[in-house]
Amino acid sequence: MKRLVDILRDTHHLEAQDYAALLSAPNGDEVAYLRQQAQQVAVDNFGHGIFVRGLVEVTNVCRNDCLYCGIRKSNPHIDRYMLTHDEVMQCCQQGHDIGFHTFVLQGGELPRDKAQWIEELVTDIRASWPDCAITLSLGEWPRKVYERWHRAGADRYLLRHETHNLAHYATLHPASMSLTTRLQCLDALKQVGYQVGTGIMVGSPGQTLDHLVEDIQYIEQLKPHMIGLGPFVPHHDTPLAHHPTGSADITTRLYAIFRLMFPKVLIPSTTALNSIDPNGRLMGIEAGANVVMPNLSPALFRDQYSLYDGKAATHAEAAEGIKMLQGQLATIGYHINWGRGDSPVFCNNNSLNTNNP
Ligand code: SF4
Repeated sequence: MKRLVDILRDTHHLEAQDYAALLSAPNGDEVAYLRQQAQQVAVDNFGHGIFVRGLVEVTNVCRNDCLYCGIRKSNPHIDRYMLTHDEVMQCCQQGHDIGFHTFVLQGGELPRDKAQWIEELVTDIRASWPDCAITLSLGEWPRKVYERWHRAGADRYLLRHETHNLAHYATLHPASMSLTTRLQCLDALKQVGYQVGTGIMVGSPGQTLDHLVEDIQYIEQLKPHMIGLGPFVPHHDTPLAHHPTGSADITTRLYAIFRLMFPKVLIPSTTALNSIDPNGRLMGIEAGANVVMPNLSPALFRDQYSLYDGKAATHAEAAEGIKMLQGQLATIGYHINWGRGDSPVFCNNNSLNTNNP
């Protein structure tokens, strides 16, 4: 297996059966080698600095009904909120005062008439902090809306495809949602000029090894600027409440595989990973991740943005715990990089991307 790791590191590509072999090998020295090589590649490209993104959960209102999600529209056991324009600006101000240079506005898929609200927010954030990057994570919208938000100043967009397998997608989403639409949105976002992130839930109900390989191959072809992977974590008020949590082991193997495929891509060590293992954030970094996303949302609303049970939103996971985060990173020889952390223009012939703004 070490030979496969070396090939992936040197050529950034493997055949399908070789990705499957990396994901299914027994845990041991060879899997440790995979993570070690990925960490080394991340250090070679980014040093020991970890980018931070300030996460603002602008609303838990959503028009969709994904079967795995705690804020799906048919969950009646949740108090819905939308931050006001001023509240979002205050979150960003506090984040900027701490030193953040990227704000991530995340939320459920809002009714279409709220596009203007987002546009005004982006316009104001861009004018107030021209030195900062603005990332949106607000789901599927018509291309024209993506264009408006991009013109207003948004730089990046996160939209996980969740699974590239049609049948699997249909088991996780209501019939009103379509994988084709999701993939078209990702293509549109790239064409509009965003730095684009996609990704999956690892261990989602019904996911097989073949599905994961299909996801890897889709991401290989999409060539995103960011790859977000977290373990599936059930939420008690969803139809998938009793499905087991995804594996931290497989999640970090995937971090490592993507780092070796795309040496310069931005890979967050996700909150979901840290929610299932207290060392999750550091495990992610030791497998090649190079971004963390502390929560800037008002503490009052954090419990209501409950995508899954046990979501970490305090201590080092929150912006006010930044010293704790710095302390954690220091234990493995890392520090915070306060820069914007734009995706470097991909320059390997395996990852040419002409849409990088
Ligand atoms: S996963 Fe996203 S689109 Fe689906 S219900 Fe949750 S917030 Fe809405």
